[in-house]
Amino acid sequence: MKIGIDAGGTLIKIAILENDKFTFRKQLSTEIDEVAEWLKTVPDAQVALTGGKATYLQSLIPQNAFQSIEFDATFRGIQSFLIEMNLDISKFVFSNVGTGTSIHFVDNGKQIRAGGTGAGGGMMMGLSYLLTGKEDFDEIVTIAKEGNRDIIDLKVKHIYKGDKTPIPGELTAANFGNVLHNKDTENFSDADKIASVLGIVGETVTTVSIHAAREFGAEYVVYIGSSFLNNTLLRDIVMNYTVLRNFKPYFIENGEYSGAVGTLRLM
Ligand code: ATP
Ligand code: MG
Repeated sequence: MKIGIDAGGTLIKIAILENDKFTFRKQLSTEIDEVAEWLKTVPDAQVALTGGKATYLQSLIPQNAFQSIEFDATFRGIQSFLIEMNLDISKFVFSNVGTGTSIHFVDNGKQIRAGGTGAGGGMMMGLSYLLTGKEDFDEIVTIAKEGNRDIIDLKVKHIYKGDKTPIPGELTAANFGNVLHNKDTENFSDADKIASVLGIVGETVTTVSIHAAREFGAEYVVYIGSSFLNNTLLRDIVMNYTVLRNFKPYFIENGEYSGAVGTLRLM
């Protein structure tokens, strides 16, 4: 049995390879001791680690694990998934929206880090909690779908008020910029607030990603990371905005396991 583990800031992603088949599971990074206890029960497994908590996990387990750099592992995993998807792209940007967001440019089988932003899954969770007191990921992504961003975010068309706009009127001019205009007439619901949090995260991630794509001359942007799990609103925001800016977005099924699969493949 081979086990690839990407121990990240929020979640530990585990990819188990047995009889040429992968099974995937994840656990909170705060439960790293439980993952170590499980690894103790399979001492003969070949283990490959990556991610910010890889070295700490190594200190807890009996296996002498292989370790790879998170960015190389993630890229290797993405390559595997793209082959499975029959998606033949060689020049692209990938954006890993984890606790934070890391953006990379790929060409000729090599990745280089193109940048990043502190807007990501961690911001989504933290800001949602500050604004609504909610901290359950599933609840946050479910409630977000019911939200109305129009009363919180200021769009270009709100500023131009029917006049001809120089850029698409549906674009956000100012995230949270409509709040004070509506404070006397609207009650902002938790759903409205959380939808707008997903808005600023999604739009920031996309803006930084497409700037990288433009800088490097790439047409495709591949998005991965657990932040997109069951998160149709975040996916839609990122997808629509990427398309609007004339780039081609891809989401990889199980893409959040890229690091875990990749470190195993690099072993
Ligand atoms: P990093 O790569 O930045 O070290 P990570 O690898 O832990 O972090 P991911 O697992 O890709 O990052 O994504 C973490 C994000 O996924 C969280 O910030 C949150 O928005 C979201 N998420 C999805 N499922 C859960 C969950 N069950 N509990 C908490 N957060 C979740
Ligand atoms: Mg990660």
